[in-house]
Amino acid sequence: MGDTVRTDVLIVGAGPAGLMAAAWMAQMGVQAMIIDQKAYHTRCGRADGLESRTLEILDSFGLADRVWAEANHTVEIALWGGTVDGKLQRQTVTPNSQPGWSRFHESTLSQAKVEEYLMEYVRGHGNVDIRRETTPTTLEIDYDAIDDHSKFPIRVNLESVASLSKPHCNGIETPGSDTSSEPQSDDSGYAGMDTVVEAKYIVGCDGARSWVRKELGLRLEGENSSDYWGVLDILPVTNFPDIRKRCILKTKHGTLMVIPRERKLVRIYVELHSDVATRYREEEDGEVLMNEVQKIMRPYMMKTKNIEWSTTYAVGQRVCPKIGLHNRIFLAGDAIHTHSPKAGQGMNVSMQDTFNLGWKLASVIQGALHPQILETYQQERLPVAERLIALDQRLCRGMCSRRDADGETNHSWFDEDHRRAMEEENSSASGLAVIYKPNLLVASTTPCVAGVKPGNYEMAPSRSKPSLATNLRVGARIPSMLIINQSDAQACHLQQILPSTGQWNLIIFGGNIANPRQIWRLSHLEETLGHPESIIQRLNNHASVTTRGFSRVGMCLIHCADRHSIELQDLPTIFRPWTEDRGVDYSKVWVDEEAYHHTGGGQLYKSFGIGLEGCMVLLRPDQHLAFLSDMDDVKGLERFLMSITPEECHNPVIG
Ligand code: FAD
Repeated sequence: MGDTVRTDVLIVGAGPAGLMAAAWMAQMGVQAMIIDQKAYHTRCGRADGLESRTLEILDSFGLADRVWAEANHTVEIALWGGTVDGKLQRQTVTPNSQPGWSRFHESTLSQAKVEEYLMEYVRGHGNVDIRRETTPTTLEIDYDAIDDHSKFPIRVNLESVASLSKPHCNGIETPGSDTSSEPQSDDSGYAGMDTVVEAKYIVGCDGARSWVRKELGLRLEGENSSDYWGVLDILPVTNFPDIRKRCILKTKHGTLMVIPRERKLVRIYVELHSDVATRYREEEDGEVLMNEVQKIMRPYMMKTKNIEWSTTYAVGQRVCPKIGLHNRIFLAGDAIHTHSPKAGQGMNVSMQDTFNLGWKLASVIQGALHPQILETYQQERLPVAERLIALDQRLCRGMCSRRDADGETNHSWFDEDHRRAMEEENSSASGLAVIYKPNLLVASTTPCVAGVKPGNYEMAPSRSKPSLATNLRVGARIPSMLIINQSDAQACHLQQILPSTGQWNLIIFGGNIANPRQIWRLSHLEETLGHPESIIQRLNNHASVTTRGFSRVGMCLIHCADRHSIELQDLPTIFRPWTEDRGVDYSKVWVDEEAYHHTGGGQLYKSFGIGLEGCMVLLRPDQHLAFLSDMDDVKGLERFLMSITPEECHNPVIG
């Protein structure tokens, strides 16, 4: 018999989705266990596209600097097609990501590096038990205890497994490659006896063939197709002029996608006839795929002496219709959506799933949010998965030549729907453009929303007023703009003051606070938000809800008055908190004005569509906008917070 251990969250699978869930647990100090059947993280191949929103998310954990420095920035995309006389010709060159949407843009870096950095982050915090070469064998749910969130109704037997064979990487000997010397195992891991884990929550991040999903009797639904593609990571030797651009080539010989990577690598996706796919699988030889690449790229020369990784796959778009059960069991990543790599979304959407889930779970465990809010995971992420599948279907229709009604003749051209689908992909359809619909964690912009009720607080739901910030979208992530610190004039990006800690952030856009009326309105906030009995102070001071030194709800002020006309000590104390040991906190007041040494300052109010009378914005821990109202609408704000937090934290003084 083995041990029985208790953990708040059991995460099955240490791929990108599982590691992002673990990163939240690590950061928010929740006891969790992450298991994986493999001894190693991914070493080569698989996903490589990082879209802007994923980079913003990695930045919120302090991980983007390394990733951004090592990644290849895929700035342009070129479309190549065949001419009537069969020649290959460049048709268009455009930006690969929509300029101005994010301070990051689409980049490529191997999944190996992303997993490595996330795992380092998780390991560094010490509260997540990491067990490799471990699989679950049974899952039992105690339905009598399922509604009591202090109980551990999930019981899982774990078994140690012999390490699966090492991934096949050919190990190009270039700086930064991690394929040449592999350690025995990533972690001290798990050896010996079997273990029973009792958990409050389980998150299945165990990939497309998810064991957790199967145990729940759920299936991926959708199309499996017989369109085969080959994938190669190579160091190319070529005279093709656009090899360092992202390219799509459509010729009568088939379709090919070129994606420049870090370390001078290039990822190539090439359309295959089924007999070529069969030959590749029999011979396990990347040269079989290179022959197909060469056919499509003629008359350009394309050779390589280094095939780092290769594989083949059949396109299929499937989604799991249920991704959260009983507010206790959750599925994420490839376990709930599989699609082709054409949109470069696999790793991104998978991490974004658990970026959405992780803080919610941790906040419920810490008693700061009502368990009912866990319903929002399915409400928010299932539509994203469905949209991704629909986009991928359109991209595949445009790319897979055998699907073209006119066969070869039509094949060298990019039809209108394919171009539109590519534009949607380039504006980061699944990341930056995601807008969550009104639910418990997103206050509606209409007076009455059927089906949206406060968690445990009987009063009318709060309402957002979008007209106060005409370019912000309630439910979307807040865009980042340059802001200047009131005290030291240092410039920083708005999102940089919103790190992933589990903290909600109330931003008071104070408008022109040189105007006496605006100053009066700010002082009123001191009396209401700063009152010891206000919901924010109650949440922040509640013994069970503070975590790792961060407040549950942080507050800051961004104004647009002339910085030199404002003195910090004249502002309400809620914006210049003071402690005996650390003195004044100077990080709470910011200005929308030009910076001395950076371009782009002084644009925030205009870009967000906020007037001189300002507004208040409540951001969730994932930077999505939950509530937007007048800067004096403290009642509305309190109602919103009370509807999502447990009753023991409440003691309203307003209204
Ligand atoms: P995964 O990365 O699959 O992670 C799941 C983890 O769970 C794995 O570490 C696995 O070992 C573990 N696991 C599974 N079952 C169990 C179990 N029973 N017990 C314990 N642990 C378990 N995407 C692209 O964009 N471009 C590509 O070219 C591309 N190529 C790919 C090639 C292959 C061979 C595969 C498998 C995927 C590829 N993908 C590609 C998809 C991309 O890798 C995924 O979208 C992404 O990794 C999803 O992350 P995830 O964490 O959801 O799942």
